[in-house]
Amino acid sequence: VNTTRIPALRTRLESDRTRLLIEVAELRDYAVKATTYLEDENDVYDNHPADDASSLVGRQTDMVLLENLERELADTESALGRMEAGSYGTCEVCGGPIAERRLEARPAASRCIDCQSAIESRQRRESALR
Ligand SMILES: [Zn+2]
Repeated sequence: VNTTRIPALRTRLESDRTRLLIEVAELRDYAVKATTYLEDENDVYDNHPADDASSLVGRQTDMVLLENLERELADTESALGRMEAGSYGTCEVCGGPIAERRLEARPAASRCIDCQSAIESRQRRESALR
């Protein structure tokens, strides 16, 4: 990686981390309340069956969103860790350099584009088999 780009990328990662921490905390708080509500579902169900069905979909969406945000947060933190360790910009799979353009587009990237697309196409195949 061109080391002159590191400070700017670090700033972006740090502001991403702050934003993600807030979003995860808010969503987790919300998810906890939704789970509490789920436990009371038997009481509520008789009175509001339609409301309940639509909020179930809402809860599932929130859980997927929360998982995505947590993964993004973990990627961001590990990228900051790699910056500290001096291994930032090196693909964790093949050990090759990650293209600068890719890091500019996604500072938290931990794999080069070749390894990333290999993993994604494998995931697509696996989910197609399910
Ligand atoms: Zn690679």
